[in-house]
Amino acid sequence: MSSVGKYFTGIFKGIGSLLLGMSVTLKELFTKKVTQQYPENRATLVISDRFRGELVMPHDENNEHACTACGICEMNCPNGTITVKSKMIETPEGKRKKVLDEYFYDLGQCTFCNLCVISCPSHAILFSNHFENAVFTRSKLLERLNHEGSKLREKAPVKKPAPAVVPSDGGEKVKTEGEAKPQPKAEVNVPVKENKEEKEEKEQ
Ligand code: SF4
Ligand code: SF4
Repeated sequence: MSSVGKYFTGIFKGIGSLLLGMSVTLKELFTKKVTQQYPENRATLVISDRFRGELVMPHDENNEHACTACGICEMNCPNGTITVKSKMIETPEGKRKKVLDEYFYDLGQCTFCNLCVISCPSHAILFSNHFENAVFTRSKLLERLNHEGSKLREKAPVKKPAPAVVPSDGGEKVKTEGEAKPQPKAEVNVPVKENKEEKEEKEQ
């Protein structure tokens, strides 16, 4: 093709490309908007339950949690975000027992990988979808997750079933009254945190 031909082909290709781009723009002008006007829509904002905002330790109405201070989450955290401090106490039966003293979580270091939650054998921690975590001081990102005065939720004792009676003629096993029934799960409250900026305003 001659250079003049190449010149005009280039012009027509450019115009075609321009029209294609304009048609996409025009189409988007009339499609439904997906942009959300945050923070104006804060009251109606819907955040997915699966969104990992920050680590929390749910406590029930008796200020009890499920953390046994085993330290598995701390060992599994790849970047030292969690610090579990335990202490020894004496039980009413006179036995020494390790319990949770303080559970620290550094939100500023967390990569939200969820390894701690997955590895916890007691399901004592989980991620809340609270996302408004901006603060002016980095030290405020270090949080203590166990509440003041909280303690380990004792598991309901499981009643051991009486030995099953097997008829001598080899018939069906006779069920006894003491067979373990599934225990109802204790209600836990996932803490709903107030906006950190609001918290700072209150402190001032
Ligand atoms: S989500 Fe990952 S980085 Fe964050 S505390 Fe858990 S294990 Fe550590
Ligand atoms: S949160 Fe779970 S894994 Fe971590 S110390 Fe407590 S019981 Fe153990």
